[in-house]
Amino acid sequence: RRKYPHQPTFLQAVEEMALALSDLFDGPDGDFYQRAFLAMAEPERIIAFRVSWMDDNGKIRFNRGWRVQFSSVLGPFKGGLRFHPTVDEGVLKFLGFEQIFKNALTGLPLGGGKGGSDFDPKGKSDGEVRRFCEAFMSELCRYLHPSTDVPAGDIGVGGREIGYMYGQYKRITNRHGVGVLTGKSMNFGGSEIRPEATGYGLIYMTKIAVQRKLNRNLTDMRCAISGSGNVAQFAAKKLLEFGAKVMTVSDSNGVIVFESGMTATDWDAVSDCKNKHRGRLSSIQDKVSGQYYDGESPWSLDIKYDLALPCATQNEIDEKSARQLVKNGVLGVLEGANLPTDLEAQAVFRKADGVIYVPGKASNAGGVGVSGLEMSQNAQRLTWKSEKVDEKLHGMMDEIYSMMEEAELSGGTLEQGANRAGFLKVATAMRELGWVY
Ligand code: NDP
Repeated sequence: RRKYPHQPTFLQAVEEMALALSDLFDGPDGDFYQRAFLAMAEPERIIAFRVSWMDDNGKIRFNRGWRVQFSSVLGPFKGGLRFHPTVDEGVLKFLGFEQIFKNALTGLPLGGGKGGSDFDPKGKSDGEVRRFCEAFMSELCRYLHPSTDVPAGDIGVGGREIGYMYGQYKRITNRHGVGVLTGKSMNFGGSEIRPEATGYGLIYMTKIAVQRKLNRNLTDMRCAISGSGNVAQFAAKKLLEFGAKVMTVSDSNGVIVFESGMTATDWDAVSDCKNKHRGRLSSIQDKVSGQYYDGESPWSLDIKYDLALPCATQNEIDEKSARQLVKNGVLGVLEGANLPTDLEAQAVFRKADGVIYVPGKASNAGGVGVSGLEMSQNAQRLTWKSEKVDEKLHGMMDEIYSMMEEAELSGGTLEQGANRAGFLKVATAMRELGWVY
């Protein structure tokens, strides 16, 4: 806290993890675990750079770019790039820290990292986005290698941006067909199911949790989703497939509430709005069956949901919203976004009797899991069929749930199970590498 008072979200992520590990710290090997935790909380390396690019008026513009190479204990640094005006070193450190444990849970040999820029893609032309991505990669490319650091997408970075960055990487390095980015197009080394993976993985885990804890399936369950980006769209799609009622989607301006549940036509309208037109949800209010509320979010409205699936951004659910969700009888909160629930709201869910609470590092691990599979396919120079990737994704989410369940059976919670399993794997590897003793 003394060292990083200007990085509150990073401190929040570390505190959340430390709270979940307190039993370990007080246990027989506690001194070692504390040392390992302190080592894990300090990134191995942070690269910061200037990104200069030209706007449509021919003017030079400057942004800040970063890559936080947090932990290479389990394998190459792996984690997305975020382009959003709120990005700074502290936000990327929080995301990179979470990523270490999430990647450990996938069972794949992946270290943790995160990067991005304070560039705001909103309102930028396609040419401006392309020139920014090229300028960003001109700096970043010297630090990437399939066995060193392999970034992917995150907020503001989807297939289009990954394509432009990979294009620039190929131009500069003359290396083609190497997996230095994941989330690539199927035309140049992408994996089937990668765009869908985070959202689908979240719903696979939700289905497992609902089956095992509530002994029911998702049919007709009222599910609130926040966001309308990559994770939210594919979470909604899988929920529709499973017969659940998707009650909401949102963006940073407002929320659409589907009182009778989202339809397949509504889903197409949202996907078109966000992917083709890069528009606001307000622009499709006359095209969907739901009602648009400007300035609201799924968590600010007093509505009964069975399941809350936050898929937008960090700290979107605060204590007040959490209390409202519990009062309205929410049965489960499973996080698609990273740290969408703030510390006070987490405390509310932990105390609420019988509410299933699964932190993002477990429930959104499907994205990086399939990124890991994309790396394997690139290394083999092969493309696996979508059924195979989907089956592996399903298997991964199942495994992660079983790890959490083990902790629950020995008196803990699902949340503690997720945090512990990830931490123990990294701590043990650090001891074996001789990095902490
Ligand atoms: P996208 O950029 O595709 O979508 C983000 C969505 O969240 C948009 O609807 C956006 O609305 C909304 N949003 C962003 N910031 C805010 C804000 N401050 N307040 C309200 N709404 C906001 O990103 P992704 O779907 O890829 O990522 C969403 C979350 O999932 C992030 O937390 C990310 O770290 C996490 N995640 C993503 C993975 C992936 O594979 N993509 C993997 C694992 C986790 P608007 O368009 O108005 O900005």
